[in-house]
Amino acid sequence: MFGISIRLHYSWFVIFTLVIWALSRDYFPKVYPHWSPAISITAGVITSLLFFASLLAHELMHSLVAQRYGIPVKAITLFIFGGVSQIAEEPHDARTEFRIAVAGPLTSIILGGIFWGLWYLLPPAFDVIAAVSFWLGWINILLAVFNMVPGFPLDGGRVLRSIIWWRTGNLRRATRLASNIGRGIGFMFIFGGVWLVFTGDWSSGIWLGLIGWFLASAAANSYHQMVMQQALEGHEVSEIVSRDCISVAPDLNIERLVNEYILPTGRRCFAVVREGITLGLVTLQEVKGVLRDMRSRVVVAQIMKPMDRLKQVTPDADLATVLNILTQENVNQLPVMVDGQMVGMVTRENLLNFVSRHERESA
Ligand SMILES: [Zn+2]
Repeated sequence: MFGISIRLHYSWFVIFTLVIWALSRDYFPKVYPHWSPAISITAGVITSLLFFASLLAHELMHSLVAQRYGIPVKAITLFIFGGVSQIAEEPHDARTEFRIAVAGPLTSIILGGIFWGLWYLLPPAFDVIAAVSFWLGWINILLAVFNMVPGFPLDGGRVLRSIIWWRTGNLRRATRLASNIGRGIGFMFIFGGVWLVFTGDWSSGIWLGLIGWFLASAAANSYHQMVMQQALEGHEVSEIVSRDCISVAPDLNIERLVNEYILPTGRRCFAVVREGITLGLVTLQEVKGVLRDMRSRVVVAQIMKPMDRLKQVTPDADLATVLNILTQENVNQLPVMVDGQMVGMVTRENLLNFVSRHERESA
């Protein structure tokens, strides 16, 4: 939709089934005992679908506002705890962040108002539609209220961060404060959950505890992510590339690779080179995949990752981009290439060292 791919995480199917179950087996039969089971189930399914459509509308509005300010949005994913918009980069200024953040809760409030309006205006003959509208109105308002809790990375936390950012001009301080509040709220939820479990409402307790745990870890992660991003931005691969990359011949067997290269040097990654041309990389990960008694019979060319299947970077690539590629590809190193020639390697370790050096200097 609007150039944004909409994805369903497998955990979404769990919550979708639970919501249908809770509505058609519990809520509707209790509140409307005169309904037949078929009506309760139909109403339950329709209500769940509209509920997740509302959630999608909330996320879509965040994404559309971001797009309007020139920030690309990759995807919206619905999962067990709701929805996330994968917005490719952080907003450039406080005002943009504020607008992107409020767009979602505002959408939920408007939807809540529309559903409640419908419930209020419908004549008694339409009691099924009215009942569905009432529940949807209530859940949308709840969604807006919950998301406006001022703990980062919830929408309310983003609003808070944008206000502190705007007042102090310091994004980092704003993020630290907003995400500390986010962690605090997460822990409060966890304690609330434990309390509920001990007072007998264990299903609500576990649920609240899980949401709290998710919030607390998301808050901590997004702060670390931002610190890394800020330290790396504006710096190039050439500043940290390791050029002393050891190369090995393609017909070297794994036993010799281990005994003559890995053990004496402590390195984890080697370039496989024939006549000055880099064919691929071989890392500890591939070596571990070869059975011990096969190691004398397998050569590196058989297990290496060939160059054309590896993501590569140039010496002038931005370090923040490199971190993104490492995370997305789930690898620990990338070859640094100039005109098809490998000139060195950039590793996750290089990046982390660079960040801690940067931290020490700015402290
Ligand atoms: Zn939101």
